Amino acid sequence: MPETPKDRPESHPAKTGSGEWYDPAVLTEDIGRIVLNNGQRKYYRLARAGRWYGGIATADCCGCNLRCLFCWSGKPRDNVEDVGNFYGAFEVAQALISTAEKHGYGLVRISGNEPTLGRNHLLQVIHAVEAAGLAFILETNGLLLDLSLAKALSVHSNLHVRVSLKGTDPAEFARLTGAPPKYFNKQLKALENLLVSGVSCHPAAMISFSPPEKIQHLRETLQMIHPDLERDLEKETVLLYPPVVERLKEAGLSPLEGYYP
Ligand code: SF4
Repeated sequence: MPETPKDRPESHPAKTGSGEWYDPAVLTEDIGRIVLNNGQRKYYRLARAGRWYGGIATADCCGCNLRCLFCWSGKPRDNVEDVGNFYGAFEVAQALISTAEKHGYGLVRISGNEPTLGRNHLLQVIHAVEAAGLAFILETNGLLLDLSLAKALSVHSNLHVRVSLKGTDPAEFARLTGAPPKYFNKQLKALENLLVSGVSCHPAAMISFSPPEKIQHLRETLQMIHPDLERDLEKETVLLYPPVVERLKEAGLSPLEGYYP
């Protein structure tokens, strides 16, 4: 796996940042200015029924602070200025609640991109669905999940957090996201922050590009943080939508496993 910035594939749209990497911290600010407005957040779909987790109501937001090669989001990630509409937390919560009620679901989530852009908006949605007796699954890349956000999340008993690791180590993370390798450690730190704050959580990891020894190494890393993380590791495989296949091909990456949705 290439580990240096010069090896970053051109198909990573490094819109901003320092050196040849894009910097997710800068992207957070830049994308945040587009998708957040006075407590409202941009969404491109509000809301849908989904089969994941045995049935979950899902609102799809716009904008992310990473640029994973295997991402299926498309325009809501890359053309965020042109896609979606702004909604307040109450509107989002109401759409999730009514979709969950219609389909008899007990779970809701925000998906499509990165839900932690717009922290207060997210916390308000979680609070509103908690009042309706629904559980919230927070799927996140964890880059913004510092101790302060983990503590703020810990007051909600209806919450479970799934931190999606982009690869199995810093080098793989950099190859798959085009962001500096050090940010992989932020993902691990997010899990630590959740654990010390008493928030229910588990790690998922994109393992489609990882040989068995790298997956084993990740297991050992998680074990050192907490045995439960290793036990609960969810293996994520790439969904081979046509644009994803094209992007991977351009980057010279072939998944070891994946499936066609
Ligand atoms: S973190 Fe998720 S939404 Fe963001 S680019 Fe990666 S796969 Fe896409």
